[in-house]
Amino acid sequence: MTGTIVKSTGSWYIVREVGTGQLHRCRLRGKFKMKGLKVSNPLAVGDQVEFTVEEQTEGAGVIHHIEPRRNYIIRRSVHKTEHAHIVAANLDLAMLVVTLASPATSFGFIDRFLVTAEAYSIPVTLIFNKTDLYDDDLNDYQSQIQAMYARIGYPGLRCSAHTGEGVDDIDNLLEGRTTLLSGHSGVGKSTLINTLVPDLDIKTAEISEFSDKGVHTTTFAEMLEVRPGTFIIDTPGIKELGLVDVKPGELAHFFPEMRALLNQCRYHNCQHTHEPGCAVREAVDKGKIALPRYDSYVSMLEADDNRR
Ligand code: GDP
Ligand code: ZN
Repeated sequence: MTGTIVKSTGSWYIVREVGTGQLHRCRLRGKFKMKGLKVSNPLAVGDQVEFTVEEQTEGAGVIHHIEPRRNYIIRRSVHKTEHAHIVAANLDLAMLVVTLASPATSFGFIDRFLVTAEAYSIPVTLIFNKTDLYDDDLNDYQSQIQAMYARIGYPGLRCSAHTGEGVDDIDNLLEGRTTLLSGHSGVGKSTLINTLVPDLDIKTAEISEFSDKGVHTTTFAEMLEVRPGTFIIDTPGIKELGLVDVKPGELAHFFPEMRALLNQCRYHNCQHTHEPGCAVREAVDKGKIALPRYDSYVSMLEADDNRR
């Protein structure tokens, strides 16, 4: 049988059977290793697997094959930076829920998320939530920010989980895709998921019924069916995704507006901070690269230096 992992609790995987949508509790047979990375979980939500259900195991299945991943995202362990946890695999889209009303999302947070998504080749749409709280000034500001990100390849949508503005647009964007929904706590992600996923309580209860009892599963991702073929992956408890694969010298490659300029810098190993003849800084001076984006780049570079 083939299926998709909708939740993992460490020792058990909850698999949704393709076709019937039936849930199965499965274990993994054998050992699977990923090259070059110490990951705490060999399988993640979104993984496509083949499994068998044997009668003597009381309905529990055994996973014996994993399809190659189109992409995946990982979160670095806070304590041991060489260890990582795969959050989700096979994503079509990531939606980052942000808000300019309280608690306002910082550019630093948005840009770190975008770099992560860029590194893993996952397109991002920004969802500006809580627009019901914006006054005229904030509405102007919002359209500037939305335009700034749209220019570099990240479209945005206005939305209010309270008034329903923009919810249909989001729903249209989800159609036929598996979408990761992410965002700082307090931005309204749960409220939005409640609006988007019919019978959410029943669906989550159904999934958790299959999960290991007594195992705390709060930081694990969960795949929710919006309707057949359309899925949301929620990442409760995950504030930020980790960048495991990006070296400081490569950081600028994950800023699309900088990427095109990199071979125009005088020095091939230019870090775009103080070097003469830097095409990136020249573009910042001319207003071709937005200052908040450049500031995010510099602070990410410095944060990386501090970890060494
Ligand atoms: P999460 O932490 O991102 O899951 O955020 P929640 O969904 O729990 O929402 C945090 C708070 O923001 C709650 O008090 C919600 O009622 C409120 N909230 C969510 N969406 C909106 C919105 O569109 N407008 C307003 N005014 N409040 C919202
Ligand atoms: Zn440079």
